[in-house]
Amino acid sequence: MVLLALSLALALGLISILGSDHVRASRNLEALTLYRKVLTAANRLSAERGPMNSVLGEEPAPGTPARRKLAEFRALSDRALAEINPDADSGFTPHLVTRDGLEAVHLRLVEARHAADRVSTLPLAERSVAEIGGVIAGMFDVVEVMRPVVSAAMAELVEHDGALAGHALTGQMLGDLREYAGRMGSYLAPSIAAREPLSAAAQDELALTRGRILQIWQSLERQLSVHADAPELVAAVHETNRLYFGTGLGLIARLTAEGRSNRYSVTTEEMTLQYVPSMAPLEQLRERFLDDMLMHAQETRKASAWWLQAVAAFTVLIVLINLSLLLAARRRIFRPLLQARDHIVALAEERSLDRPVGIRKHGGEMHELFAALEILRLKLRERLRLTERLKVQAETDALTGLLNRRTFDRLGQDDPDFDYLPVETGLILMDIDRFKLINDGHGHVAGDTVLRAVSALVTEMVRKNDLVMRYGGEEIAIVLPNTSLRTLSRIAETLRAALAEQAIILDDDTELRVTASFGVAVGRRDGSGWKVLIEAADQALYAAKAGGRNRVSIAGEQLLAGPVAIKPIRVA
Ligand code: GH3
Ligand code: MG
Ligand code: MG
Repeated sequence: MVLLALSLALALGLISILGSDHVRASRNLEALTLYRKVLTAANRLSAERGPMNSVLGEEPAPGTPARRKLAEFRALSDRALAEINPDADSGFTPHLVTRDGLEAVHLRLVEARHAADRVSTLPLAERSVAEIGGVIAGMFDVVEVMRPVVSAAMAELVEHDGALAGHALTGQMLGDLREYAGRMGSYLAPSIAAREPLSAAAQDELALTRGRILQIWQSLERQLSVHADAPELVAAVHETNRLYFGTGLGLIARLTAEGRSNRYSVTTEEMTLQYVPSMAPLEQLRERFLDDMLMHAQETRKASAWWLQAVAAFTVLIVLINLSLLLAARRRIFRPLLQARDHIVALAEERSLDRPVGIRKHGGEMHELFAALEILRLKLRERLRLTERLKVQAETDALTGLLNRRTFDRLGQDDPDFDYLPVETGLILMDIDRFKLINDGHGHVAGDTVLRAVSALVTEMVRKNDLVMRYGGEEIAIVLPNTSLRTLSRIAETLRAALAEQAIILDDDTELRVTASFGVAVGRRDGSGWKVLIEAADQALYAAKAGGRNRVSIAGEQLLAGPVAIKPIRVA
């Protein structure tokens, strides 16, 4: 039970650790998914400027390719923004990205788009650089308003798991890289659209932004080198170097040089068509990176779920093993031990000594224990039989098989063996008449035969509870519990008559007839009563002898048979 409790405590500890791991992994995944949606929306808002630059650089006409593209990109931005749903029940904690923040972005976007639409309906010649710049600045503003939303998504990510800070920063830098790259085109667009030389301010912005882009890329390349194991990321880095930093930035440098002398070789739409594809690897790189990050988060979450299940299953297994161990111990150890205890107690109390101890159903050490118990049982039974035999021998007379004199004496000595007998008892003493003559006439062996025959006859005739004992040489005492003097006399008389009738056949086929004289008395076995009782019976017997033998004499009464009346003897 202790083992079970300990392993349960251990398992519960593990499950709680793994459970919080799993919750963290789930939160991370959720926060990452949100972060990714926010970055994607921010990116769509930057991308919307591409076709907008084109439209600002062409004459107002419905359904031009640039206008169609702008409509398409606006729809994409709207969808990406709609994807961010901070109100969705996260199940964990409220999101830091708020509906208000998104609402601000939305308002700013509607405003900027409205301004763009207003300017783009003017004929190309009527649009000033300042007006176009203002429209573009409005779109920049949208991205600036979006920035707190991105920061909130990032803060949420870092708050859940500090380890994700580096990744989150890389994701944001990749977004910034795309934003600044987009701005390069936007700084050039107003001047190209208005066919005016590049202002000093625009040149400064271009140089500044270029410096930022190179700086961001330098640290990004270092951070992304950590992901050398993801081939698609490595390929995207390579493609960015080739296409954006080779072709794209090259185009910007060329157009900047052209802008100084106001001799543009392209329209805004042509610039957009050439420049935007060079930014594609930047977007791909960001997408790949975020894909990779999400994939890792999903894997972590899956692994944490797997471990949680594995530990739970393991716990169930441990509990089951423990319980079956407990049951097995109960069945194979505790229960047999209790049985063995019962056997030992029974053997000690000399109970069921004749019923074998079941050995076969036990195995191993228990088998040995029960085998030892069986040996003990057999030995105890042997000893008990021996003891009983010795007891019988000690209590009986060898020649007649009657109880012996020692046993007779014990009756009057408060012996616990005779506690079952009442204290009030009757006593018949009988003495074979003229036995000496039989010995003398027929020999000692014949005398023994007569003794055995008389004993057998008496034993057969008395009641089961009466005790027949060899009191002396040819004297027999019969103890009859709970018997009145009248009954005693009747029994003695029956015995006397039966003996007188009985022919005893000796080994040499000689037929003998013997008689006996009987003294009968009632009294008590306790205290001095026993001695008094014996004396009374003895005196009655003496009286019977004196009265002529072959008769019954009752202590305190006249002889039942025979001519001589004797003086009554009082028994205490
Ligand atoms: P009475 O009628 O007065 O009793 O005369 P009795 O001869 O029977 O009395 P007595 O006491 O003189 O004789 C008893 C005899 O019993 C004496 C003894 O040798 C004999 N006797 C005692 N024990 C045994 C025995 O175990 N076997 C045999 N064969 N004789 C025994
Ligand atoms: Mg005799
Ligand atoms: Mg005698």
